[in-house]
Amino acid sequence: MAEGQVIGEVPSASDSKSDKTSKVAAESLDSGDYDSNCLFCRIARQQETSTELLPCENEDLVCFKDIKPAAPHHYLVVPKKHIRNCNDLKREQIELVENMVTVGKTILKNNNFTDFSNMRMGFHVPPFCSISHLHLHVLAPVSQFGFLSKLVYRINSYWFITVSVIISRICKHI
Ligand SMILES: [Zn+2]
Ligand SMILES: [Zn+2]
Repeated sequence: MAEGQVIGEVPSASDSKSDKTSKVAAESLDSGDYDSNCLFCRIARQQETSTELLPCENEDLVCFKDIKPAAPHHYLVVPKKHIRNCNDLKREQIELVENMVTVGKTILKNNNFTDFSNMRMGFHVPPFCSISHLHLHVLAPVSQFGFLSKLVYRINSYWFITVSVIISRICKHI
């Protein structure tokens, strides 16, 4: 299935009204990498001043606190490029996913949390993604999860999967 899919939101060529000016504007924003209607694209470009970006030593990623924390530490690691969800990941993006994990651990360390056996990281699986822009949930400590957090972030359920599972799926698909 995956090989036939069209990647990203390519502007429709059949739309006769899309003149040259709008095409140039779209290209200057790196068409396909950025969606002006996407909250996380805007946050990644610091266009949402209410969201504070946390120090993140990777130029392809940003990190910020989840607006509805499900644990004392709850961060999101987000690629600047608009990738819709974990099902859209390709083999060449495995390194990006691994970097997301590294950044997630760094953010925890920066916030004085180092008990990595007591953390949870993973992706929501469509249609269970609240935002259609790939984001890694980084949560800790798992021992303080309430009932709802245990459910919403239950590893390898139909709706939430770990990084290692998504990487093995990417490898199988291609
Ligand atoms: Zn986006
Ligand atoms: Zn999510």
